[in-house]
Amino acid sequence: MNILIVGAGPAGLATANFLNTKKHAVTIIEKEKKFSTMGFGIFFFNEGKKLLRKATHDRGIHAFLKQIGYKYYLNEHGKMLSDIHYNSVFHVSNYNAITSIKREDLHGLLRKHLHPDVSIKMGTTISHIDNKPDCAHVELSDGTKTTFDLVISAEGSHSQLRDLFFSYKIKKLPWVARYFWLEKTKTRFFLEWSQYATIMCMPHKNKTTMLSIESNDIYASCNEHQIVPKELQEFYTSIGVSKEEIEKGYKESYVAPMKYVYTDRWFMNRVVLIGDAQHAMTPTLGFGTSLALDDAYELATMLNTLDDSQNLKSGLGQFSTKRTHRVRTLRRINRVADFFTFHHCKPYFAFWSKHHYLSEMAAKFIDRGIRLGWKYA
Ligand SMILES: Cc1cc2nc3c(=O)[nH]c(=O)nc-3n(C[C@H](O)[C@H](O)[C@H](O)COP(=O)(O)OP(=O)(O)OC[C@H]3O[C@@H](n4cnc5c(N)ncnc54)[C@H](O)[C@@H]3O)c2cc1C
Repeated sequence: MNILIVGAGPAGLATANFLNTKKHAVTIIEKEKKFSTMGFGIFFFNEGKKLLRKATHDRGIHAFLKQIGYKYYLNEHGKMLSDIHYNSVFHVSNYNAITSIKREDLHGLLRKHLHPDVSIKMGTTISHIDNKPDCAHVELSDGTKTTFDLVISAEGSHSQLRDLFFSYKIKKLPWVARYFWLEKTKTRFFLEWSQYATIMCMPHKNKTTMLSIESNDIYASCNEHQIVPKELQEFYTSIGVSKEEIEKGYKESYVAPMKYVYTDRWFMNRVVLIGDAQHAMTPTLGFGTSLALDDAYELATMLNTLDDSQNLKSGLGQFSTKRTHRVRTLRRINRVADFFTFHHCKPYFAFWSKHHYLSEMAAKFIDRGIRLGWKYA
């Protein structure tokens, strides 16, 4: 089959890695002129890690992964309230299961292991597409016109093809996610929880990713000049971050609204959605990348085992049935976690929810969802 993958994020690159290039001609187009990931650290589940190893055939991926181990819970004054072994929250037997990886390393690994026959066109998008039941006629922004058997939309949450062919809803939550680096201060992996913001810190080898989920009110009070909200300044000082460093972090921060994308369908004629294009959700539990790899694996496995392109419709039907169940389950779990994690709660509620949510509810809900349908061990 002649396959076009739109978007060279984790979903697109992983699909290209999983596809059998003896059976399929694979082209990737990426709208950016060069790869420039934001470089922040991302959270990786055991299953995502296994799929990354499968995609890259690289046992050396461990050099890029940092085990998370314990997660510490601080109050808004930086005082530690409790600690919890993160792998035990997710009931995983493998001690090294929950890890983080730098986004640039993840991209680098997926790109490094692409088959030489896979072509990537940078700075290219779709200018026109005629999506027919038996093929898709595509005109690219570089002027070339080609007919593809399948177009895979792996364009992330702002997918152009989803806008063209699918009906969907977006639910925005009243918070924004702010990401920034700390380059000097070394901290532990922790979560701070107050009525102003939920702050998560993920240390890497030489940098620390900070994720600050701020209420729209707090964000609005500081967004124009990216000023550190006064409500949070005491906290940063208490964990040892200097005024200059936090101000620099805020100025260079990346801010995204917290949202869900709801799409019932996965494919329409010869266009199929995967990754954030189909199911963008909030970063609360860090499912996004693992799910993107999961979609990529399932889709490529189905395509690799198809007899000929005539069976494509039923193959895509099976793929979408399987994925719908899985994604809905994880979305529900993520929404429960949203409620507990980002609720603008009073300190006593925060204290209560920290302990009860983590020790009991998370273990039951999350564990069940994570195991559902994941069987790549
Ligand atoms: C700052 C941040 C932090 C995050 N942290 C975590 C985390 O800790 N753990 C986790 O699991 N997930 C995290 N996520 C979510 C995770 O990044 C996504 O779920 C994951 O990247 C989805 O992969 P994707 O390939 O579907 O989409 P994307 O990574 O968004 O990739 C889409 C690609 O398509 C390209 N593109 C877009 N439109 C077009 C077009 N029209 N034509 C051609 N190319 C196009 C884009 O340039 C991009 O390269 C985070 C997200 C953000 C923004």
